[in-house]
Amino acid sequence: MTARTAALAPPSLRRPLSIPPEAQARVAALMAEGWLHRYVEAGGGTPSAAAQVEAGMAALTGRRHAVAVNSCGAALFLALKGAGVAPGEPVLVNAFTLGPVPGAVLHAGARPVAVGVTEDLTLDLDDLRRAARETGARVLLLSQMRGHMSDMDRLAPLADSLGLRVIEDCAHTLGATWGGRPSGSFGLAGCFSFQSGKHVNAGEGGVLVTDDPALAARTILHSGSYLLYGQNGAAPGREAFAPLLGQCGNFSLRMGEIPAALALAQLPLLPERAARWNRAHDRIVRRLAQAPGVALPRRPAPEAYVQSSLQFRLPDAAPDEIAAMVARCRARALWLKWFGAPAEGYTSRPDHWPGPAQSLPGRTAAVLGSLLDLRLSDALSDEDADAVVDILLQELPA
Ligand SMILES: *Cc1c(COP(=O)(O)O)cnc(C)c1O
Repeated sequence: MTARTAALAPPSLRRPLSIPPEAQARVAALMAEGWLHRYVEAGGGTPSAAAQVEAGMAALTGRRHAVAVNSCGAALFLALKGAGVAPGEPVLVNAFTLGPVPGAVLHAGARPVAVGVTEDLTLDLDDLRRAARETGARVLLLSQMRGHMSDMDRLAPLADSLGLRVIEDCAHTLGATWGGRPSGSFGLAGCFSFQSGKHVNAGEGGVLVTDDPALAARTILHSGSYLLYGQNGAAPGREAFAPLLGQCGNFSLRMGEIPAALALAQLPLLPERAARWNRAHDRIVRRLAQAPGVALPRRPAPEAYVQSSLQFRLPDAAPDEIAAMVARCRARALWLKWFGAPAEGYTSRPDHWPGPAQSLPGRTAAVLGSLLDLRLSDALSDEDADAVVDILLQELPA
């Protein structure tokens, strides 16, 4: 079918997450009051919206502490700082991730080292073993990339045995679980994003969750709390801060009250959003799985995903065939992305990361080179999901 005569993708495919009316009202009230900063010198009465987000995220993830910051990238950076990552130190990072993840490592002055990805889009645990031994790394920054959770039953003990502390990048797994345990509850810390393309639309925002009081206290001080940490919503006690006072630079990475108010009203909506996303995703996948030449990642039984995007591979297609399919889909308003493309927008590959050239470990080059990706909206009806998969099937390489 040619782009000229073919139906376009439904407009709902590109619809952003809607902002609940009570959040709009709360933001209007905040603007009328003028209290847009989370810390108030003479305050401490009513908890700020940021403090309420912290309490809500600690409860959602089953963690003792949560710290609200201005992005997930900032949360990842602060987790690395809090873990004591030193300049020049190697930090292991999934080869399948997004630019802000190696970016957080660079922000901490450290060196991202790519670990391979499997056909199921999870971390290659054999390659993890190799990379840990070769580099002597002490920290793994684990992206649960595009919602595909690594096997946490195997990964956690393996990381322990390799002396690796795990920082979980949960930008795409807010609301997801492994074996009934929330993403973000594994390892030293979990980091979440409230950027508009994730599961909560606050424009910008991030949260770090942890059970470690020292890491939480450090993160609060680094985030820029002006010693008003008594106003945080899920902070450790004063005894955790005492030994750190005067030790932690103020990096001013706080969450403001407007994004916090936007996020707060959306936390209770996560289960409904997950159900809508998964319904559309699973409906598309059921038909896509029948098409010859299409490979879909397997989903392990312990994983309960929130699939706000779709991934599939064309392992037998040539690069120019994949590039042509992407172009045809985009001409039909379906913004397909390809991890085999030269660096662009919301894809990234280790060979695009700044710094010394990275080789792509193991099967990574083949997996990413054949991988296509589509953002889904929670506003897709069944008919819209069918229209999306119609386009994908029509535009597959011959
Ligand atoms: C979006 C994203 C981030 C960074 O989130 P920001 O809030 O934009 O900093 C980190 N990791 C992954 C996998 C992401 O998709």
